[in-house]
Amino acid sequence: MIRAMRITILALLFWLPCWAAGQADSSPAAQPSSSRAMPAQPFNVEAAVEAYLAKMPPAERAKSNAYFEGGYWLILWDFLVTAFVMWLMLQFRWSAGMRNLAERITRCRPLQTATYWVQFIIVASVLTFPMTVYEGYCREHKYGLLNQTLAPWLRDQLVMLVVAVVLGAILVVPLFGLVRLMGKSWWVWGAIVTIVFAAFLSLIAPVYISPLFNTYRSVQDTRIKDAILSMARANWIPASDVYEFDASRQSDRVSANVSGFAGTMRISLNDNLLRRCTLPEIETTMGHEMGHYVLNHAYKGLLMIGVVIVIGFAFLHWGINAALQLWGEKWGVREVGDVAVLPLAVIVLSFFFFVMTPVTNTISRTMEFEADMYGLNAARQPDGEANVDLLLGEYRKMDPGPIEEFIFYDHPSGRTRITAAMRWKEEHPETELPEEMARPMFK
Ligand SMILES: [Zn+2]
Repeated sequence: MIRAMRITILALLFWLPCWAAGQADSSPAAQPSSSRAMPAQPFNVEAAVEAYLAKMPPAERAKSNAYFEGGYWLILWDFLVTAFVMWLMLQFRWSAGMRNLAERITRCRPLQTATYWVQFIIVASVLTFPMTVYEGYCREHKYGLLNQTLAPWLRDQLVMLVVAVVLGAILVVPLFGLVRLMGKSWWVWGAIVTIVFAAFLSLIAPVYISPLFNTYRSVQDTRIKDAILSMARANWIPASDVYEFDASRQSDRVSANVSGFAGTMRISLNDNLLRRCTLPEIETTMGHEMGHYVLNHAYKGLLMIGVVIVIGFAFLHWGINAALQLWGEKWGVREVGDVAVLPLAVIVLSFFFFVMTPVTNTISRTMEFEADMYGLNAARQPDGEANVDLLLGEYRKMDPGPIEEFIFYDHPSGRTRITAAMRWKEEHPETELPEEMARPMFK
């Protein structure tokens, strides 16, 4: 049954992008000409989109396509490598051994869970390390997307491991406590604890986690800061500051984000965006981030992902019971409340989220598109928006087919975003900026 499902997913992964690529030419719907278009020179949305896409040199586009399409296969390989490593831990009773060791060290059950977790995460990280190096270091360098040499990159990996040890313990200790306490309804409580943990993670991340990897400070350029704060006031955003961080430490990618939850919500933009972009481009990017804030995407996203997590835990409940009946004794795993079950839980949940990739991507992509539209209306910079979309095309394939975009894109594709910007511009011809249109975005 699992084998059949895997083959189905393989088929989906392999065939749909190929099929969708063939369909790419028909993807952008022809635009009806607007009644408000200027009579002298009617604005043609499709031609304007093509003109922007043509600013990306073919070699740059080929590189970006290869990088992004390789990422489709990585989703599959990541799942397979994780599942294999977890299976090793069960099959050779390493998981049961780590539990036994934890039980010898302490009689206190929460401490046993935490002790097991520390061993588990270190062993899992070591066994998946070759994959981590290939994916996060070699491959990124191959495509010129990483600025770090090995030593600082390894330092970041080590910090991530320490964060995983601490945060993971904060999640698994109450999780296993509840599983033992609640009997058959454990999966409902497990899902609730996980959702609360996700909210907690969002709350602390901007203040306690992000600064471990990058330095954050108030935006220094007052010309840019004043423009952004003016937009924030106009959009009823209680921001008194905007942050910049040194993402150039890791790469040249431009990006910005709204992070945090409740009291820690903040808007940050990276130094690459400040260095590589004009004011209209920065304004449209900030308009997008403000859209996430005003449209309450942090809360809506948590709610929607929460539904996925509840379904995931129902699947986990079924998967663990089925597998333990078959192999529980062989693996030395006693029951669902036994912490040694963790590798099995990771296999089942990884499979679930692997299959749910199009769903979680669509949740994200839909909110990203909403933020794009908000940003266009807030910043009124359609040409700046199209230029930023081109820069994002350095690491995200610009022009996918519709099904490819549906399955693999957590943000809209460059073509979708530029089309939205040009359609908006058609309705607001007065916002056109010829210098933005003429600006070359690639060396
Ligand atoms: Zn966004």
